Amino acid sequence: MFNGMTAMRLDVAVIGAGPAGLSAGLYASRANLKTIVFEKGVPGGQVVITDAIANYPGAGADAGGQSLVARMVEQAESFGAKILTDPVEAVDLSGRLKSITTPKGVYEARAVIIATGGKPKVIGCPGEAELTGKGVSYCATCDAAFFKDLEVFVIGGGDAAVEEALYLTKFARKVTIVHRRNELRAAKHITEKAFQNPRLEFMWDTVVQEIKGEDVVEAVILKNLKTGTITERRAREEDGLLGVFPFIGFDPVSGLFKDAVAADEQGYIITDDCMRTNIDGVFAAGDIRRKPLRQVVTAASDGAVAAVCAEKYIEANKW
Ligand code: NAP
Repeated sequence: MFNGMTAMRLDVAVIGAGPAGLSAGLYASRANLKTIVFEKGVPGGQVVITDAIANYPGAGADAGGQSLVARMVEQAESFGAKILTDPVEAVDLSGRLKSITTPKGVYEARAVIIATGGKPKVIGCPGEAELTGKGVSYCATCDAAFFKDLEVFVIGGGDAAVEEALYLTKFARKVTIVHRRNELRAAKHITEKAFQNPRLEFMWDTVVQEIKGEDVVEAVILKNLKTGTITERRAREEDGLLGVFPFIGFDPVSGLFKDAVAADEQGYIITDDCMRTNIDGVFAAGDIRRKPLRQVVTAASDGAVAAVCAEKYIEANKW
């Protein structure tokens, strides 16, 4: 496929294989455009680590993120899109042909669709980085089973924190939501469920100051922002381990395009209704984009629009 000397020529390069990228891949390949969707890890993005996608039309109340993504991948591939596990290391978007460099080689594309999404925000407190994977986790779906009958703290008050906390109650003995304000940000129907769950407790106006442990999380140090009171919550001796699941939002993964593609102050890429960025032939779709609602349904929609507009752009700029 690639000999290391010449760049492989594509019509459309999609960067990121979450719902936005997979939808773009599906639409672009269905329009007979030679399309590769580049993914640095596992396809699916944030959806893969989501237990239930209850609000994607037609997915059904119990649709799991992983099965939804598996069907998206299959569908995109059935139209000819190639989904490649090959992390994009550099891009040059300035010319008519855009260049994409990965460890496997260099690709040239007439159009690029950026669908790199976001990554979980970190608390940034002492112990968090050191104990990630040792009690600190950003994925309840992946790690809930490790906390069977243990005590778990979920940090944040948005949809993700409350939904994942509800999921964790199926495993953990007790789940405490630690929120920096005294009111949840999550949607009403989610918070109502949470308030009715006997295994869920809340610590309001509270932040995590430190996560402690030798090899695994043994304790969390919490600070009440109103009173200044510091509390230590320690794992029971027989448990030996606490869970800490921060769900405090996302940061856009836009580093590769910094300085080239116009973004807002938080790093979200600015597009028009056609998902066009400030650079001809470069589109953005999904959570990476500045927009009012980040959901699977809006990501899939963005991907479709971006691919159709990329098709029109390629058609109008034949060379
Ligand atoms: P989010 O809505 O931005 O909520 C982040 C939460 O973390 C907020 O409660 C925020 O507190 C808190 N927070 C932020 N920084 C913090 C810090 N440094 N320390 C402590 N707490 C901090 O993020 P999200 O819940 O991850 O959701 C992201 C997007 O995905 C949203 O658009 C959401 O609607 C969507 N989503 C939807 C669903 C669903 O519809 N089922 C599920 C998951 C996610 P404040 O409230 O005080 O700002």
